[in-house]
Amino acid sequence: MSEITGLLKKYFGYNSFRSNQEAVIQNILDGNDTFVLMPTGGGKSICYQIPALAMEGTAVVVSPLLSLIKDQVDTLRENGIVACTLNSTQNESENRRARELCLNGTAKLLYISPERLLGELENGIFKHMRVSLFAIDEAHCISQWGHDFRPEYTKLSQIKSYFRKTPIVALTATADKITRDDIVRQLSLQNPRTFVSSFDRPNLSLKVVKGLGKKQKINSILDFIERHPRQSGIIYCLSRQNTETLAKELAEEGVSTGVYHAGLSNSEREQNQNDFLNDKERVICATVAFGMGIDKSNVRWVIHYNMPKSIECYYQEIGRAGRDGSKADTLLFYTLGDLVMLSNFAKESAQQGTNLDKLNRMQQYAESDICRRRILLSYFGEEMDHDCGNCDVCLNPPERIDGTILVQKALSAIVRTEQRVGVNLLIDILRGSRRIEIISAGYHQIKTFGVGSDLSFREWQAYLLQMLQLGYIEMAYNDGNTLKTTNMGRKVLMGETTALLAKVKLETTTAPVAGKRSRIAEAESHLSEDEQLFEQLRKLRYKFATLEDVPAYAIFTDKSLTQMVEDKPVSMVEFSNIAGVSEVKLEKYGQEFITTIRKAIGKKRAKGDTYKETLDCVHKGLGALQIAEFRKIQPVTVYSHLAYLVEKGDLTDWSRYISNDEIQAVARAAEKLGHTTELKPLHEALDGNIGFGIIRLALSILKNK
Ligand code: ADP
Ligand code: ZN
Repeated sequence: MSEITGLLKKYFGYNSFRSNQEAVIQNILDGNDTFVLMPTGGGKSICYQIPALAMEGTAVVVSPLLSLIKDQVDTLRENGIVACTLNSTQNESENRRARELCLNGTAKLLYISPERLLGELENGIFKHMRVSLFAIDEAHCISQWGHDFRPEYTKLSQIKSYFRKTPIVALTATADKITRDDIVRQLSLQNPRTFVSSFDRPNLSLKVVKGLGKKQKINSILDFIERHPRQSGIIYCLSRQNTETLAKELAEEGVSTGVYHAGLSNSEREQNQNDFLNDKERVICATVAFGMGIDKSNVRWVIHYNMPKSIECYYQEIGRAGRDGSKADTLLFYTLGDLVMLSNFAKESAQQGTNLDKLNRMQQYAESDICRRRILLSYFGEEMDHDCGNCDVCLNPPERIDGTILVQKALSAIVRTEQRVGVNLLIDILRGSRRIEIISAGYHQIKTFGVGSDLSFREWQAYLLQMLQLGYIEMAYNDGNTLKTTNMGRKVLMGETTALLAKVKLETTTAPVAGKRSRIAEAESHLSEDEQLFEQLRKLRYKFATLEDVPAYAIFTDKSLTQMVEDKPVSMVEFSNIAGVSEVKLEKYGQEFITTIRKAIGKKRAKGDTYKETLDCVHKGLGALQIAEFRKIQPVTVYSHLAYLVEKGDLTDWSRYISNDEIQAVARAAEKLGHTTELKPLHEALDGNIGFGIIRLALSILKNK
């Protein structure tokens, strides 16, 4: 095992690196500047944490948010790594302690905000400590081209002038080519090697639901939550108002949720965020302000109540789910109303052209009838030569219908109303509504009035969306969002060509059956054995998290818990094989988790297990005393296990535990005493020179011969 793989196992409990991690680490260890582009959840942290552990001195990590910093420091400490931070929210003695750890070189990592960095560079601690490397997390924040520009980050350009020879590693999950070059230039990285990982996140399922009304969206969300019991999820809304209303409506149906938006006070925001991080509140309704600081690895789903304004934003937001690599689900609601609103925002914005383009790409994604993941990846410049099998299009391919008559009906109504109506009014005319606006404008007298009454309002909405997308009609955003005909549309209207549309299959959302309040509670009582075990482990994790005052996932990720449920480790050795179980965590939590697992699966396996556990240690090459220490049992018990294993034929090479001389001595003494197998007289006959345990082992070896 290489040194860095050893560190990965010891401190993080993982057996192998993910793609690019090892190459990045090697490049940093070689003293080079490095640029890392990896999707959220790709495993960026380990890229600089392992070099920090392997190199002498302290790695300085710049991170934009205090909450992120706290999270990282907690997680590292849980794994027995000395990490600290300097910041204004810590009290003076904590800061003093952190300084000490850096000055005497004990700290392997120092996390610091960009604001603080400059002061420390100019006349602070950095002059007196040994800095192994600089890691710039969320590096895109330095660039005005990026979507998250933070003025404080521009100060980072000074690092190189103070530290010419110290390697810098810049890491980000989102950076197009311009932003990337900008980061390299501003940080003055010297011949950096760039490592770009695939942006594919195969564990995220992708689903888009078009054209639901408000009530239907809520029902659909309730269904969704019911299908994801006890799981953490985020619902993103476009406006503050939306988050509040939605939270209230869900609460009325018995689903409690937190709320997060920029309009709350700092303390409310922090409280709600912490409740979510600590699994106290499972669901949170939030604006996009919520997220950057969220390292929570067990977010199992993300719903977009409204469509995001670009694919970058969308991808980053859904990327907050499933960071631990376990399966996670995403759902995007897409309505014409959102599209209109977002178009208006884009038009009022400074970079109108770019923003409308971005929105347009997002719209294409939402309306696509080819594999959605292929669209996403191609947007990020990656090629994918197969369908993903984990998006709604792949799972439920659209059925084509001849939509010529539908297009003709719509267009004819548009023409006859002199292209002065918007979507909703048009649908009402097509469906023959007699609402006042229609009567007063005389639209009930046109020839196409009521010709579309065979379809529901929502079905018409969905078909009109397609017609817009395919270019049969267009929407005049600068003329009250009224609908206009196009050349292509007129050809269909004249019967010169036909139109192929995807058949609209509306979500059938079942009405809430369980009644109020009981949703979550009821779901808990129908758990399978494995689900129950998962719950028990989760509770145990929660207990430790509370005790240590860290978020639950800093103890173990959901992925680790899932593997525990699958593998059901009942020995320390087996437990150490669970991904995410570092040495310190094994020591701290192993016993209690094992006990819980044993209880759950009954005593059946437990008896043979203790021998097996000792045998596992033998295979690992541990000596008798090491086994005793590792297993927290008496050495004499270890020998009795070894003896048992010898007799069973499981242990044939015992040279590590007993010498040939010892075996011979016991053999002679036993013979002298008339082939006794009693330990006490043998012990005395050997003048007390050979311990009981070894005698016992010798007897078993002799017996087997
Ligand atoms: P990022 O910063 O890129 O969003 P993180 O560094 O937070 O991602 O890593 C995401 C998750 O993946 C964490 O739970 C982390 O422990 C886990 N992880 C990272 N590297 C590995 C690895 N080599 N094997 C297994 N899990 C890993
Ligand atoms: Zn797909």
